[in-house]
Amino acid sequence: MEDPARISQFINLPMLDFHSHRPGGIHAYNPDEASEAILSPVAAIGVHPWQSASPEVEKWLSELPALLSRPEVVALGEVGIDPNRGAPLQQQIALAQHQLRLASEMKLPAIIHAVKSYHLILQLFDRIHPSRPWALHAYNGRGQVTAEMARRGIFMSAGHRSSDASIASIPEHLLLAETDAYPADLITIEEIIDRIAAIRHSTPAHITDIVAANLSRFLNP
Ligand SMILES: [Zn+2]
Repeated sequence: MEDPARISQFINLPMLDFHSHRPGGIHAYNPDEASEAILSPVAAIGVHPWQSASPEVEKWLSELPALLSRPEVVALGEVGIDPNRGAPLQQQIALAQHQLRLASEMKLPAIIHAVKSYHLILQLFDRIHPSRPWALHAYNGRGQVTAEMARRGIFMSAGHRSSDASIASIPEHLLLAETDAYPADLITIEEIIDRIAAIRHSTPAHITDIVAANLSRFLNP
């Protein structure tokens, strides 16, 4: 199912913004938004955990394989687990697992939204053994959690909600950066990269090179 030419055709490297809700990086859509005729040139689609209690979930899941086959789509996402919002936990785990299995079968990487559930994401990873990389958006773990993610080659994306300690903990070869911005937000990926550079005692130029190379590897392993 994989067609690397299909992916590279739409990406003008270097692309830096791993996760946003506007064009310019990987633009994430829920399936109901993605049935519009035109998607951003680099898109991801998935049922967000915040939408997991919607009566439309079954319909969205039935549409997902066709949506993920669209030429603009480079990844599944965002999908995951958030105990603070959406359906009961077990239902969220089942929804995430279903979508992550589909992505693995379709040879697509996955963008993961995880709140207070990194242990559950690790369990899902070990159960699914995905064929393509996973990446955690708005990463906020550190210490042993970061080590467990790194052992599995899971990418970790630094954003405006990531703590300094978390941003400092991410191994260089797994570091991504994101705005997680909606169209009205003013934040830029350059501001995020400046902050990452300051926290890691590095330079914006170096962090730019790193996140561009890592994002490219996430998409085309
Ligand atoms: Zn988001």
